[in-house]
Amino acid sequence: MSRETARLAQLEATVDDLQRELERLRKERRLPMRQTHRCSACGGTRLFHIKTVSDMHHAATVPLSLQKEISAWWGLRKSLGVLEAFVCRFCMLVEWHASSLDGITADGSTVLEVEGTPDADTPESGPYR
Ligand SMILES: [Zn+2]
Repeated sequence: MSRETARLAQLEATVDDLQRELERLRKERRLPMRQTHRCSACGGTRLFHIKTVSDMHHAATVPLSLQKEISAWWGLRKSLGVLEAFVCRFCMLVEWHASSLDGITADGSTVLEVEGTPDADTPESGPYR
């Protein structure tokens, strides 16, 4: 093997390694901490899963949520879209998730429905396919 052929083979192997690493990083970056139990920013694997984040409504403790149904007579009737959080214990990145979207509808003012355009490198098995 000539010196130039060996150099070319080394470069090809390096490019292959970089492509595999890039693909792995692309996939991992898109997956939420809730699914991977791994921080999407620093790769840390020690997380807190905060199943209920407390909020206050008048003098009562209620779960933090996206919306609250409030009655003029009875006060808080229901918390909609209760939030949970995953927190990386190393870099403190916080990732929020709604435990459900039941009861939440787009009203055009406080809740807007936004739809993106899928790009070519979106994972095939995403939840919105
Ligand atoms: Zn982290």
